[in-house]
Amino acid sequence: MYSKRTEQTRVVIVGAGFAGLAAAKTLADVPVEVLLLDRHNYHTFLPLLYQVAAAEVDPSQIGFPIRTILRPLDNVDFMMAEVERVDFESDVVITKQGPVPYDYLILATGSEARFFAIPGAEASTFTMKSLTDGIDLRNHMLAKFEEASRERDETRRQRLLTFVIIGGGPSGVEYAGALMELIDGPLAKDYPNFCVEDARVVLVEAMSSLLGTMPQKLGRYSAERLRKMGVEVLLDTAVAEVTPEAVLLTDGTAIESETAVWTAGVGGEGIAGRSGIQTRPNLTVSVLPTLQLPDEPNVYVVGDLAAFEQSGSFLPMVAQVAMQQGEVAARNILRQMGGEELQSFRYQDKGSMAVIGRNSAVANIAGWAFTGFAAWLIWLLVHIAQLIGYRNRLLVLVNWAWSYFTFERMVRLILPNRLIDEEQQVVEAVPYKSVELEFVNE
Ligand SMILES: Cc1cc2nc3c(=O)[nH]c(=O)nc-3n(C[C@H](O)[C@H](O)[C@H](O)COP(=O)(O)OP(=O)(O)OC[C@H]3O[C@@H](n4cnc5c(N)ncnc54)[C@H](O)[C@@H]3O)c2cc1C
Repeated sequence: MYSKRTEQTRVVIVGAGFAGLAAAKTLADVPVEVLLLDRHNYHTFLPLLYQVAAAEVDPSQIGFPIRTILRPLDNVDFMMAEVERVDFESDVVITKQGPVPYDYLILATGSEARFFAIPGAEASTFTMKSLTDGIDLRNHMLAKFEEASRERDETRRQRLLTFVIIGGGPSGVEYAGALMELIDGPLAKDYPNFCVEDARVVLVEAMSSLLGTMPQKLGRYSAERLRKMGVEVLLDTAVAEVTPEAVLLTDGTAIESETAVWTAGVGGEGIAGRSGIQTRPNLTVSVLPTLQLPDEPNVYVVGDLAAFEQSGSFLPMVAQVAMQQGEVAARNILRQMGGEELQSFRYQDKGSMAVIGRNSAVANIAGWAFTGFAAWLIWLLVHIAQLIGYRNRLLVLVNWAWSYFTFERMVRLILPNRLIDEEQQVVEAVPYKSVELEFVNE
């Protein structure tokens, strides 16, 4: 399909996350050829990733094959490829599998963890940014309980059973709550031979409140709820260093632990830097109000990768911003092709939520901040509705209902995670039409 340029305009979208998929769907059934590129062959529903890491849902329930999503979209094709950079001189996306020319380009590669140069943080913490991260963390966390059950040395056992989560934003709060419930419920029953009550979940936040982007009332409620559940919440506490066996705080305290989870900082995925695009300190890219890259009118940047200022502050890295930007960028491309005036992006905030545990969540919707069971129910419904595919919705719902009524978690499997290696092999062994692609511009 890509060996010869057709007469049609080609839009290349890099990244099949929330922004990239929204753009692809907006361009469906219009006379353009759309090619979606992603390093994975599945889309990940990141808001439920912490539940994979907490053995609550199966990875396959929050991942969805991209080709299946695109099946109804006749003019949209997919290529599994690792994108290295963009060559703006020749309008070509350089992938490990070969060059891909474009007429219009949408960059939607999302974000990755940033460690603020804290010594040891990158090497010795688990991140939660991809499905494989979630599986790795689940395996590691469950394996630590197995090790602890064999360990005779009291000090080592305590270290094995201490889990430190660095960063009190939504991901940190949600994982802390889910982990504590897992420990208090199924794991306490699984390990009757040693005292699971010895396990510690410590949530470390540098600011004076949890959930810094939400109203303070919700941060306070979250801290209270988590403490009631047994989580140690440390506010105004900064991490100085992480080693494989401890998290060291700036006040000199050492929390001995072999499991540190990093949810403290994110920045733009590195495609901008690799392509010579100027970035902000957090590696995001400043865009025009139309979402175009300054100086490259045919290139749009959307989602977590884009730095977009509205009403004096930068928009948060959330799925709603990404989806709305993906749609507007796609529509602007169509306007550009038709010689029409482009639309400026304006974010419609539909609210934010975080779940803390059973019957307990916080929500900030339309300026109304509320907590407890109502927020939890809304959180549940919104997340089920947003999942892709009826099968996944049904399975997650059944899973949640089962856990809710039985206090069990059914995904407590320690499985070797060979996904990364396998993907790497696919990438190296099956260069997708790269030979043909090299002749595209001739
Ligand atoms: C654990 C977690 C929980 C979250 N919870 C919420 C929540 O509850 N509510 C909410 O609104 N937001 C939440 N977010 C944020 C939300 O997921 C992001 O804002 C959103 O995913 C951004 O969409 P995006 O399309 O920009 O990037 P992504 O959805 O991250 O998609 C980027 C895509 O690009 C691909 N990619 C990246 N680099 C390359 C490359 N070099 N080559 C090829 N492909 C590449 C990736 O594989 C990925 O598919 C959460 C995020 C995380 C990590």
